[in-house]
Amino acid sequence: MNNKLVLVLNCGSSSLKFAVINADNGGEIMSGLAECFNLPDARIKWKIAEKKKSTSLHPYSAHSAAISFIVEEIIKKEAGLAEQFVAVGHRIVHGGEKFTESVIIDDHVLEGIEQCSSLAPLHNPAHVLGIKAAQSAFPALTQVAVFDTAFHQTMPAKAFMYALPYNLYKEAHVRRYGMHGTSHLFVTDQAAKALNKAVSDTNIISAHLGNGASVAAIKKGKCVDTSMGMTPLAGLVMGTRCGDLDPSIIEYLVTRQGYSLKGVMDMLQKQSGLLGVSGISSDFRNILEEHDKGNARATLAMEMFIYRLTKYIASYAVPLGHIDAIVFTGGIGENSHLVRSKVLELLTIFGYQVDSEKNKAAILGNQGIITAAGSPIAMVIPTNEEWVIAQDSAKLVSNQ
Ligand code: AMP
Repeated sequence: MNNKLVLVLNCGSSSLKFAVINADNGGEIMSGLAECFNLPDARIKWKIAEKKKSTSLHPYSAHSAAISFIVEEIIKKEAGLAEQFVAVGHRIVHGGEKFTESVIIDDHVLEGIEQCSSLAPLHNPAHVLGIKAAQSAFPALTQVAVFDTAFHQTMPAKAFMYALPYNLYKEAHVRRYGMHGTSHLFVTDQAAKALNKAVSDTNIISAHLGNGASVAAIKKGKCVDTSMGMTPLAGLVMGTRCGDLDPSIIEYLVTRQGYSLKGVMDMLQKQSGLLGVSGISSDFRNILEEHDKGNARATLAMEMFIYRLTKYIASYAVPLGHIDAIVFTGGIGENSHLVRSKVLELLTIFGYQVDSEKNKAAILGNQGIITAAGSPIAMVIPTNEEWVIAQDSAKLVSNQ
């Protein structure tokens, strides 16, 4: 029997990540990255069966040229591969309030994604370009949109509203949307399996800690609160993003310190977070290395990251009442036993006790409980957003 393979595309403004995923078991057949779009050194690299390859694209190539290359020069060169495709699944950053679940893309959906562009001006226009290019490359295949925001659409108004004049919500769609939804959804399903519970009976706090980072409170399998806001700038301390901030700082920097608004926003997005505080790097591994050498600003950046994260986790006891597990995922959550143990130490008031051997063993894709017997549960679950996209795409195609 043929496999159900899905081409998963994640189109950014200057790059495109792709993967061919087996929807049944999450197996990755190939993956790659095309980058430096619209620049003279546009290029692509990819990996099939552990073999890595790379080449230049035509100078100034962008989405359409990259997708043509992926189809003609990579996929079609693998005998029998394209015939096993059942769909193309697109990761879409922002679905506003329009999209509460994954959908098959038609003209109406494409228009909806375009309309959400004002909420994600760097991402949604690129997604639209990617969808159009994939539609011409695979005219016979169903295209599916899977939204980062969709999982958070179950939040109640008291959690998603900002305390601003109400018409800003009604007329300008200003509200918390949340991001990393496919990752939070994936770990919720996996946690329920690991805990031997129905998803609809599972309460977790999911901490997706990567370059971007967010926490979500998930009650009976549904999101009831999350740390990211209208955009991914809010919430935790991240690699280069500031997370939560007193909004008056922006006015202060513009009116009193000579910054332009664009300069401030650029700084909050790209020069803040771990990078801004440490002055060293946005990469958590470098922060840890420098902390080990006694660098005080690296230590401060690390402590701020852990302190803010733990405060968010503790606050989600309020909407959840009962917590079945705290789940760590993303590059930092899956690999840093130090971050996990420090977070759980700060949560001693809730009774958490780390099992240091289990905690140290949960790295490099290992899943497992990291707390001691008798402690409330914390666990590590490696995320797999591509698999969620492949599964949703295959499911929608089979229901057609
Ligand atoms: P992601 O965005 O999920 O790929 O995660 C990227 C982040 O994970 C970067 O800050 C990396 O430094 C961090 N990371 C990856 N491996 C480790 C590790 N072994 N220890 C600490 N941080 C790690």
